[in-house]
Amino acid sequence: MKPYKELQQQLQGQLKPKRYKHTLGVVDCAVEMAHQFGANEEKAQIAGLLHDCAKNYAGKDLLTIASSSHLPLDQITLKKPQLLHGPVGAIVAQNKYGIQDEEILKAIAYHTTGRRNMTLLDKIIYLADFIEPGRDYPGVEKLRKACEKDDIDNACILAFSNTIRYIASISGLIHPRTIDARNALILKKINQ
Ligand code: FE
Ligand code: FE
Repeated sequence: MKPYKELQQQLQGQLKPKRYKHTLGVVDCAVEMAHQFGANEEKAQIAGLLHDCAKNYAGKDLLTIASSSHLPLDQITLKKPQLLHGPVGAIVAQNKYGIQDEEILKAIAYHTTGRRNMTLLDKIIYLADFIEPGRDYPGVEKLRKACEKDDIDNACILAFSNTIRYIASISGLIHPRTIDARNALILKKINQ
C-alpha cells in the first residue's frame, strides 16, 4: 500500500478545496473515534481520506463505472446516481489508490447509505462524515454528543433517523439500505 502522505497528495489533486477540507475533517474525526472505540486507527485514517474520492464525478460517469464494474443498479440509484459515489469510490480507491483492504473498501462503499450489519469501521466513517468540524446543520451538536458516549450504535441510529426524517421532509427517495441499516441496529438492541 502507498504511504498515507502519498495517498493524501494524490487525492488533493482530485478534489475541490472545499471537499478536501471536509475530507481532512472526516480523517481527524475517524481516527479519534477509532481510538475511542478500539478500531484500527490506520484503517480509519485511510477510509476517511478516500471516502469521497468519487464525490466530484458526474452522475453519468458514476453510472458508467458502476455498470462496467457490475455494481447492482436499483431504481433509486438510477434516479439518484450521486448515491453511487460510495460504491464507485471503493472501486476508485482500489484501482487508482491501490487499496486492497476489504474492510476499508466496504467502509467507503457504504458511507452514504449504510448497510445491514455494519462493521465498526463502517459506523465510524458513516458518523465521522456527519460530525466533522465543518458540518453545520440542525441536530449536529446532539449527534456529536451521542458520538462521545460509549454506544456507537445509538449514535448511528440517531444519524439514520435524522437522515430519514430529512429526506422524508423533502419527499425524497430513501435508499432501502438506509432503512435496513437502521432496522438492523434497532433489532440488535431489542434482542440484547
Ligand atoms: Fe460522501
Ligand atoms: Fe463526505
